[in-house]
Amino acid sequence: MKAYRAALLRFDPAADPRQAAVYEADGLLVLGPDASGAEVVQDVGAWAALAPRYPGLAVEHLPGRLIAPGFIDMHVHFPQLNVIGSPADGLLPWLENHTFPEEQRFESPAYSAAEAEFFLDELLRHGVTTALAFATSHPASVQALFAAAQQRDMRLITGLCLMDRHAPAALLNRAGPAGTDATEQSLIDSETLLQQWQGVGRLGYAITPRFAPTCSAAQLRGAGELAARYPQAWIQSHVAENHDEIAWARSLFPQSRSYLATYADFGLMRERAVYAHCIHFDAEDRALMHATGAAAALCPTSNLFLGSGFFDYASAEQAGFRYGLASDVGGGTSVSPFHTMLGAYVVGRNGRGKAGLSLTPQHLWWQHTAGAAQALGLDGRSGRPAVGNLLPGCEADFVLLNPQATPLLARRTARAANLDELLFALIVLGDDRVVERTVIARSASARPLGPS
Ligand SMILES: [Zn+2]
Repeated sequence: MKAYRAALLRFDPAADPRQAAVYEADGLLVLGPDASGAEVVQDVGAWAALAPRYPGLAVEHLPGRLIAPGFIDMHVHFPQLNVIGSPADGLLPWLENHTFPEEQRFESPAYSAAEAEFFLDELLRHGVTTALAFATSHPASVQALFAAAQQRDMRLITGLCLMDRHAPAALLNRAGPAGTDATEQSLIDSETLLQQWQGVGRLGYAITPRFAPTCSAAQLRGAGELAARYPQAWIQSHVAENHDEIAWARSLFPQSRSYLATYADFGLMRERAVYAHCIHFDAEDRALMHATGAAAALCPTSNLFLGSGFFDYASAEQAGFRYGLASDVGGGTSVSPFHTMLGAYVVGRNGRGKAGLSLTPQHLWWQHTAGAAQALGLDGRSGRPAVGNLLPGCEADFVLLNPQATPLLARRTARAANLDELLFALIVLGDDRVVERTVIARSASARPLGPS
């Protein structure tokens, strides 16, 4: 067993997410293997109360530091990290001049492998311990990302990007060697990759139609059939990001009630289905999200950067569907969870076309940890693994934060009168400099990393 003594943040799953944080100014976190050998939280609470129960246990004392659950990024594009911050005259020139040429490079296994190393190291450096990520339409990109995540024992979910039309030829799914067409081959490749990686260590497979306009009806139908055959697998796609995209999707699938309903009509809405953006919804769309158990990945820095619009928190709460935060790099402007949480606050405040509200710091943090885990179906329900929290039984992924990381942060956090002030100072002023250490739980299948 291992133990850490520091300030501690975790979340009460039964509480209102706006005020669900549980904080220990001087806490103890005890880690150890569960019955299967995976490293989980064994005990957590106030140092004074817990310490007498563990005489002789070696404790790493970290005064002045805050231990918090590892962050969860619900939507990020692995092949777009290198084009983050590319100047362009809107979305289409950005795709044509920067994103598409970069994504084409991932056909190469060697290029994909090198990029996967950098991508995951960058996530971890920013405190992100779980991610639902897009790869490209090249199987090599998926293999490389899974292999690199497995090496780090990181909880990562990805899948082959399904796009059999309306994109440059080099980015479309390819026909198979035995005469199968691109659509059929993309579904065969998806199932092969799913069977190879789903549930291996901490990895999960996501059936990944890029978005309805780049997928034929046959491809969406096949994806829905896969989703029905493999209920433990995830589904990820995009929906209702901007008005042009919605009009395009509607013209291609006019028989569906709405853009979102297109996915439902092809069997692509259920628990563990995650849709990025979800901005321009009506009440029926929100009810559909709730009824199917699908979740929204909110991408505030991307939505602000591209001028896509503002997610409507109040209506989402009213409809009761699940959601969590995401960077959406490279449309998003930062991998940092602090920047994303600040972006979410700005999105919440915006009062054009919806109620402007002030999301509490605890609610912002919850959306990137325990709330995101709930949205992904990784919150321990029905015997599933739990991440995004530090309750007993949760996988032991956590970050060690330094609230004194910069001169201004040190001054501001020293003056914090309560937990909300401390968390909001970190959200507004924080970035990768705050993340002193990111610790990943060892899974039962982990190879020993050497003497420790
Ligand atoms: Zn995206």
